[in-house]
Amino acid sequence: MTTYIGETRKGERVVSALSDREARDILAAGRRDEFAISLIAAFDQYGPRLSDGRRVWLHKLAVEAGAQATIPAPIGDASLAALVARFVAAASARKARKRVKGAGRTRSPSATLTARDGSPVELKLAGNASKYSGGLTVTNGKPYGDPSGVWYGAISPSGVWTRSRAVTEPVAALVAAFAADTAGVADAQGREADACCFCDTPLFDKRSTSKGYGPICAGNYGLPWGDVPSDAAPAVAPTSLATGTRARVPASACGDWEAEDALLARLDSRRNGD
Ligand SMILES: [Zn+2]
Repeated sequence: MTTYIGETRKGERVVSALSDREARDILAAGRRDEFAISLIAAFDQYGPRLSDGRRVWLHKLAVEAGAQATIPAPIGDASLAALVARFVAAASARKARKRVKGAGRTRSPSATLTARDGSPVELKLAGNASKYSGGLTVTNGKPYGDPSGVWYGAISPSGVWTRSRAVTEPVAALVAAFAADTAGVADAQGREADACCFCDTPLFDKRSTSKGYGPICAGNYGLPWGDVPSDAAPAVAPTSLATGTRARVPASACGDWEAEDALLARLDSRRNGD
């Protein structure tokens, strides 16, 4: 029974089972520093009209002052938890395919997006060896240890995003939007980049171009993959459609897992002298 969830300006999440009054009383009993006293005075003056910026600190300091025993575990954001679940499902799909097809390079499910200020944002399922295993890491896509890498934190399976200070408003907005409407954001970003945000496969065919992601990734990540809208502009030349040949990679190869499997199959058949 959480009664308060807030966030400091630095993005630290504060969860408390206390009312404002209880938080105030705990602070009054335990903290004597100037900041605590100013918060207590503000509560006494404004009560329910206390500013959000002060309220979050009232609860944060009260929790820190010894109310932990009454505080439940942080409540995750349901849409972030659902987002993590999509990536976990994609990893399972990948493993299932590998069991059928045999050995191959393993690659964690990931999505590469662009925030509205142009910042690249990569969400990636953390591997078993990671301390964030089972959750998503949020970075600018640079590998761990790269000096130009930016760490935006990790999202736990229950949907708690432990943010780093590097998180900007556009990055936070993008992640929230992606969690709330994964299909819509993947669609918009894919059409903008002409490539699937999950597997980076270029998208050319009519339906995938209208969707912004391809059918394999749609299946892996649990996204809708319907019929071609009647008003979709043809993105593949009609002649090549008519002859059934395409000079470029069709979107049916979306999910480079699939393309990779096709490549493996070709190599196998060559090896077998077919
Ligand atoms: Zn894809």
